[in-house]
Amino acid sequence: MKLIFLGPPAAGKGTVAQHVSGDFGIVQISTGDLLRAAVKEKTELGLKAKKYMDSGQLVPDLLVIQLLQERIGMDDCKNGFILDGFPRTIPQAEALENSGVEIDKVINFVVPDSVLIRRVTGRRMSKSTGKIYNIYPECAPHPPADIPEDDLHQRPDDTEEVIRNRLEEYKKLTSPLIDFYRKKGILVDIKADDPLEKIIENTKKVISS
Ligand code: AMP
Repeated sequence: MKLIFLGPPAAGKGTVAQHVSGDFGIVQISTGDLLRAAVKEKTELGLKAKKYMDSGQLVPDLLVIQLLQERIGMDDCKNGFILDGFPRTIPQAEALENSGVEIDKVINFVVPDSVLIRRVTGRRMSKSTGKIYNIYPECAPHPPADIPEDDLHQRPDDTEEVIRNRLEEYKKLTSPLIDFYRKKGILVDIKADDPLEKIIENTKKVISS
């Protein structure tokens, strides 16, 4: 089972992937997480990627494609995977096809911009577990009551200015992938401004169908 989760930043792709991947025995691969790890470790690739990420721009295709190909060649990907945040451009999608990966389904998470901006500015990541929470009451998942406040970290690219850039990048470079995969007959839209439980349930139904 090889899936792509497509959608704008903060559409919930990562959170839903965390919840459904275990049920289907497949791994979640987030190129954003892989890049953040490379930045933290100060690898050559991480040093090159950082300036793009901090300003909300996409990292150049060649760097991300190399990173993704290394990851999907690993043993734990044999049963399948959810690509969360890849591909983000047509050349990335073509590189995936050219490397012989056959995607079963693309789930397109649809959310209005106003909801995304609110979600992003309230988003926090647990430093100790890497889990994503939201501090605004209308946005799930809420952090557990006993989580220390200094464990919650705001990503440098989760400010309002940067999210607006990221949404522009999404519209210009990533949204053409919706038509690219729709034409292949493998894309399914999911309304992703519903409560999280409903989005997870709908996603599981689409994966099992
Ligand atoms: P994410 O965690 O998916 O929101 O990604 C965070 C940032 O990492 C993005 O704003 C981009 O700068 C970079 N990034 C992640 N995935 C990709 C990709 N497939 N192509 C280019 N840049 C990416």
